Amino acid sequence: MKFRNFPMVPRVIYGRGSFEQTSEIIEEKRNKEYPFIFLLDKVFEGKELSKRVPLKGKDKIIYLDTTDEPKTKGIDAIRDSLKDEFGTVSGIIGIGGGSVMDSAKAVALMMTTEGSSAQYQGWDLIKVPGVYHVGIPTISGTGAEVSRTCILTGPERKLGINSDYTPFDQVILDPALVKGVEKNQAFFTGMDCYIHCIESLTGTYLNAFSKSYGEKALELCQKIYVKKPVWDDESDEDLMMASWHGGMSIAYSQVGIAHAVSYGLSYLLGTHHGVGNCIVFDKLEEYYPEGVKEFKYMVEKNQIEIPQGICKGLTDEQFNIMINVSYGMVPLWENALGKDWQKIMTKDKLRALYEEM
Ligand code: NAD
Ligand code: ZN
Repeated sequence: MKFRNFPMVPRVIYGRGSFEQTSEIIEEKRNKEYPFIFLLDKVFEGKELSKRVPLKGKDKIIYLDTTDEPKTKGIDAIRDSLKDEFGTVSGIIGIGGGSVMDSAKAVALMMTTEGSSAQYQGWDLIKVPGVYHVGIPTISGTGAEVSRTCILTGPERKLGINSDYTPFDQVILDPALVKGVEKNQAFFTGMDCYIHCIESLTGTYLNAFSKSYGEKALELCQKIYVKKPVWDDESDEDLMMASWHGGMSIAYSQVGIAHAVSYGLSYLLGTHHGVGNCIVFDKLEEYYPEGVKEFKYMVEKNQIEIPQGICKGLTDEQFNIMINVSYGMVPLWENALGKDWQKIMTKDKLRALYEEM
């Protein structure tokens, strides 16, 4: 057997208020001729956080609208405009949720790679390092801060740019930044982490490396969503670390059915990752009995409504698009159900599952 040799995020700073050290951290990577570009979620435009971004010289903030998840076209456009304006940049700093962090990784890679980002959706197609890139999460759960991918919707598929050059060079984990996330959104993104744990820990790809991280992440999720009566600052800190561990867990294993099915929803209907995973996971008792039972308890305890009926009225053609996108996620299915997964999850069964949502 040949084992994969994965890179990890080489530098991380953790602590409430650590965002204040951003300037000193990035300064040593500054090339005096080229600016740092801060990609910030548009939700922060005009807000206090935008005023704390440490701009110097030609440094610039670009606000990203995250109404839709990142698209290859949008990434290419940012890259082209930066090249036109500056030639190159000292680095890209992404401040936001999974959407903004993935955008920062993708733009950083595409600054040094020719063509459209759509050409590099897949595994190990990027052959040279991107520019220096930093991730600063402002909502916890996706694990995008540690992962080796940045998920983009392209003209043909929704798939990540998975490569050794994708992980951030630096991550800044400041739990104070997650204040202000809307309750439902915070829950959906938090559940992304919970679902990463369940899918990793019950998968056929599981090994001691993934298990050690997955168990810790799951323990933290259960502490904050099941055991603790109220959410407090410590919960924000715990979820930030759960997200990190959940991401580490899937680095050396895979996600599973909820993700494979939710990619179909996302591709056809634009359903966002967190809520999409919740919509699917809610219907997966047959495959993840314990996890789904606990999930339903957390939904009730936190008074969250999982959207229903989103596939109502879809045509056969539309169902087939989702089924084909989902069926394309081979490693996810294999991890969940083993090599014979197509015999277990037939296309008819998958159609029936979509019809329940
Ligand atoms: P997101 O980045 O879209 O953010 C969700 C919402 O929260 C947005 O409306 C945003 O404006 C808002 N928000 C974020 N921080 C806030 C704050 N501090 N205060 C107020 N509002 C705030 O959602 P997400 O769930 O973090 O990420 C989803 C994206 O991540 C998807 O594109 C998905 O494909 C990707 N993803 C990537 C990986 C990976 O490993 N790279 C893993 C899972 C998901
Ligand atoms: Zn996920």
